[in-house]
Amino acid sequence: MNRKQSELLYEEALKHIVGGVNSPSRSFKAVGGGAPVFMKNAEGAYFWDVDGNRYVDYLAAYGPIITGHAHPHVTKAIQEAAANGTLYGTPTELEIKLAVMLKEAIPSMDKVRFVNSGTEAVMTTIRVARAYTKRNKIIKFAGCYHGHSDLVLVAAGSGPSTLGIPDSAGIPTSIAQEVITVPFNDAEALGDALEQWGDDVAAVMVEPIVGNFGMVMPKPGFLEDLCRLARQYGALVIYDEVITAFRFHYGSAQTYAGLANHDLIKPDLTALGKIIGGGLPIGAYGGSKEIMEQVAPLGPAYQAGTMAGNPASISAGIACLEVLKAEGVYEVMERLTVKLTNGLAESASRHGVPLTINRIRGSFSTHFCDHPVTNYDEAQDTDGEVFAAFFRAMLNRGVNLAPSKYEAWFLTTAHKEEDIYFTLDAAEASFNEISSK
Ligand code: PMP
Repeated sequence: MNRKQSELLYEEALKHIVGGVNSPSRSFKAVGGGAPVFMKNAEGAYFWDVDGNRYVDYLAAYGPIITGHAHPHVTKAIQEAAANGTLYGTPTELEIKLAVMLKEAIPSMDKVRFVNSGTEAVMTTIRVARAYTKRNKIIKFAGCYHGHSDLVLVAAGSGPSTLGIPDSAGIPTSIAQEVITVPFNDAEALGDALEQWGDDVAAVMVEPIVGNFGMVMPKPGFLEDLCRLARQYGALVIYDEVITAFRFHYGSAQTYAGLANHDLIKPDLTALGKIIGGGLPIGAYGGSKEIMEQVAPLGPAYQAGTMAGNPASISAGIACLEVLKAEGVYEVMERLTVKLTNGLAESASRHGVPLTINRIRGSFSTHFCDHPVTNYDEAQDTDGEVFAAFFRAMLNRGVNLAPSKYEAWFLTTAHKEEDIYFTLDAAEASFNEISSK
């Protein structure tokens, strides 16, 4: 597959944009380097690059594009919003409509506030939790990603539960020391951390279903234990549902049937983003009335935004949720995903490539290993080189995945059976190519 134009554009981009990309996850660094593919347009389940190559897309822009690219209902909503003026700096009725839709789907939120990204949403939930509890520290889980604000860009030190060390230059150790990192799915480690630091822990922050070291389900009882332990020590529970909200059903992980007893895993605050903006920039956070009333102008915790609640993002979000509310949408994505993951597993096994697939409805992750993946250590202990070879082999056959072994595959409402067969043919050839090397 010829990608000459992408290579030329990458050379040009490198001169002007740091690393040639506006988010490091778009670079091909983790899959052997070289030019990322420069896309020109997208429709439904497909991308076309600047050289005219077509790709079936499983990136879905890291999650938001659940209705497929340029969905007519979403596009129309954006066009109408743009024609009416893109930004007012005043409240609009649209914001109420989306807030009510979110509250109905995620009842733990009495009050909502819109922001512009998942990063902002998470960052603010932490501020609000600190304001409410008058405590400083937070506990997070190794490998969970919560955006790029200082407090959550902190990794575990050595040992099962540790005060953090900065994961990025530019974050003072003093800030990292306010973060305790424990392994996901390990309630005992959480209990130990709370026993040691519990008096000063404002919140326990978690992706209730992990999307950032592959898709990883909480073990039975883990979220119940997490919530019970947090409450025992007077800490709030924050769910980062930036990926998970509206991903598996019309609601979020906290309301996902069969995950857990919903009453026992109710969070105090929830952070949202991605899907709720229908492909435009958005974030939101919400929680109980009492806690949310910490936020300005009612309370002492300040948070603001020039672009927050802009009519285009809100309209796109409403339109996207309207599409998702239709009967059977998630069931179709799930059915196709089962077909795809079964086919991938068979193909990998036929060629002797160890592969663990974690699937949750219409999304899944492929881990090149022969053991289960239930936490970050296990996700790290997978073959990055085989992933890189598979990623490139698939790309060359017109299938676009995220360029990282930790990212999920997302189906959209636009994927059809023929796309699954196309992908499985590409996978069969790719596994064949990898195993014969
Ligand atoms: N939380 C989670 C769980 C995420 O996956 C991400 C982004 N991938 C974020 C927060 C940050 O969102 P954004 O990129 O919109 O700032």
